[in-house]
Amino acid sequence: MSVFDTHCHLDIVASQGIPVEQSLSNAMEAGLAGLVQISTDIKSATFNSRLEAKYSNLLQTAPDFSFRWTAGLHPEAANELDTLDDIFAIVRENRDSPSFLGIGETGLDYFHTTEFVDEQKESLKRHLELAKELDLPVVIHTRDTRQYEPGKTQSVQDTLEAVRKIGGVKGVLHCFTYSYEEAMPFVDLGWKVSFSGILTFKNSHTLHEAAATLPLECLMVETDAPFLAPVPNRGKTNQPAYVVHTLEFLKKLRAERLGEDPQKIQEQIEINTQEFLDFKAS
Ligand SMILES: [Zn+2]
Repeated sequence: MSVFDTHCHLDIVASQGIPVEQSLSNAMEAGLAGLVQISTDIKSATFNSRLEAKYSNLLQTAPDFSFRWTAGLHPEAANELDTLDDIFAIVRENRDSPSFLGIGETGLDYFHTTEFVDEQKESLKRHLELAKELDLPVVIHTRDTRQYEPGKTQSVQDTLEAVRKIGGVKGVLHCFTYSYEEAMPFVDLGWKVSFSGILTFKNSHTLHEAAATLPLECLMVETDAPFLAPVPNRGKTNQPAYVVHTLEFLKKLRAERLGEDPQKIQEQIEINTQEFLDFKAS
């Protein structure tokens, strides 16, 4: 395996001018091992469930390229809680499809939408219950309003509480932007931590520290495309092919700070990603 984009939104990338075919073929040409197409609402869950069939000709040209997808309701869309049954029906219907990976993205966002906190908590709880019932991993989004203080991020604390209450669910903290203190309770539960292009930004000091102190065995990379394109493409519409820049940054950072061998880092991230893909019990 080589680098895998563990989190992207090809439908939103397409709405910003790069068609799905183009994103996929660019990813294949960049040598990616695969990507995970993430759902945010009922529309994208439906889109995701049809994507593989729709682009089967293109996907068949690269048999080693792995396409995986999720279904879930983003916390910013928690006001659409009434669509959750339909989204979960898509999950149940596709549970055993080889390309279906798991549930998400769900989580808690106290930055964009504070008026739907109760709905967000209810939505997260229901996603976690379904993940436990069907033995599927969850993709978690967290974001806070308040000034950052290590270890005191409310959205992460509340998510951890919900995860502990359910018990036995594994997943990933996607687009991680906090510190060692926030990540470790999840890492201790066997979770992965995924870094986006934000890692490559010059001023992401807290994040650089986290990426250099967390155990290598929990780390993964993603684009969250079309958002947050990594340097040197910062400001452009992001796409899965750009994930290589985040991986290279992470390798350089840990090689410089910890003296780790870049090749070993790459291999371990490949192992971590495979473990994440295998969280879905067969
Ligand atoms: Zn996302």
